Amino acid sequence: MSRRKKLPLYIQILIGMAAGIVAGILLTQLGLNRIVIFWIKPFGDIFINLLKLVAVPLVIFSLLKGIGNLSDISRLSQMGIKTIAIYLATTIAAVCLGLGLALLIQPGNSLAPEDSAQLQQTYQNVVSQQNESATALQEKGPLEFLTSIVPDNIVAAMGNNGNMLQIIFISILTGIAIVLCGKEKMAPFMKLIDALDTLILKTVDLIMLFAPIGVFALMSGIIADSSGNLSILGALGIYALTVIAGLVILITLFYPALIHLFTRVPVKKFFQAMMPVQLLAFSTSSSAATLPLTMEKVEKDLKIPNEVTSFVLPVGVTINMDGTSCYQAIAAIFIAQVMGIELGWIEILTLIATTTISSIGTPGIPGGSVVILIMVLASIGVPPEGMALILGIDRPLDMMRTVVNVTGDATVASIIAAGEPEQR
Ligand code: ASP
Repeated sequence: MSRRKKLPLYIQILIGMAAGIVAGILLTQLGLNRIVIFWIKPFGDIFINLLKLVAVPLVIFSLLKGIGNLSDISRLSQMGIKTIAIYLATTIAAVCLGLGLALLIQPGNSLAPEDSAQLQQTYQNVVSQQNESATALQEKGPLEFLTSIVPDNIVAAMGNNGNMLQIIFISILTGIAIVLCGKEKMAPFMKLIDALDTLILKTVDLIMLFAPIGVFALMSGIIADSSGNLSILGALGIYALTVIAGLVILITLFYPALIHLFTRVPVKKFFQAMMPVQLLAFSTSSSAATLPLTMEKVEKDLKIPNEVTSFVLPVGVTINMDGTSCYQAIAAIFIAQVMGIELGWIEILTLIATTTISSIGTPGIPGGSVVILIMVLASIGVPPEGMALILGIDRPLDMMRTVVNVTGDATVASIIAAGEPEQR
């Protein structure tokens, strides 16, 4: 038996990240990108696959456990309305912050026209592909969103991680049926669900043992993949800094203020518990892949009851993206400024509305908001080709906004828990 004290998970992840960056830079400089891409990056993909593997069962068992243990259904509907209202409010605040910063700093007015033309040319192909997906999305009617939440086949719904809202729908429906059947009749089933929930959380623990290596592989892969784009970083520096400023304000001022004012969790404890979650979000760029760890940490370390986390966090991953919406507002204004398009008040209000609504439809995957941003641009009359301007530096910003997205979800879970009777 080893008597060595184990390093905390976030330190291990940090070491993995730092080592991955160093290895990525060294191997790329030596012209060994292929080694990274063929021999290192696959371990990052394996890690992400493992996280995705547990996502669907985790959400199902956790929601069934959370809802099945409720004493009556009115608690669920109260919690549901509160959750969605707070998610919307934080998203609107994030969009307004992004707008304010973009209008104040005017990042788009700092890019030389030659740079802009060159960037647009480089990313022409990618943009036209994204444009097609955006058009396909736009062709669907306004209620398509609701129809798509209700699956017509349980196996098909569970067969795709992208169907998170369908999976949440099935679990809530079953959970409500469990409560209506009565505690006594459902006791054996709930015992099974409880055991399955424990099992899946243990599996998450096991997967997280692999996190430092997974993160190492992901970071070196990102460096090797983006070696050609580094020069663009200079030209778009001010835009990137504006986005970073918005995200930093959300993380260092907005959430701490909310936690201090509306929860019983000390701010320091909150951020200590969130550290490994944030590092994982940063290295995977995916709030969906981070969900298993977010749920574990919020439940175990922040002591937020399972009935809250099991509902609020999976819903948040799907509909609440404060970092993404703050970034989308800045990106839209930036692109409009570079293209010399004046935005009036109507466009600004439309931008607030579309960014808020579209963050609901953004999948929690790397670059999930890119397709959605095209729709946001179209809604305010900015040509989607403008996307090309920002694609080159999107990945690092994506990593940072994902950190904000997961922190926002955990903040709202803590706020909801503070209002629940059990916590009093
Ligand atoms: N990568 C982000 C997330 O998973 C979504 C996005 O902004 O592209 O939360």
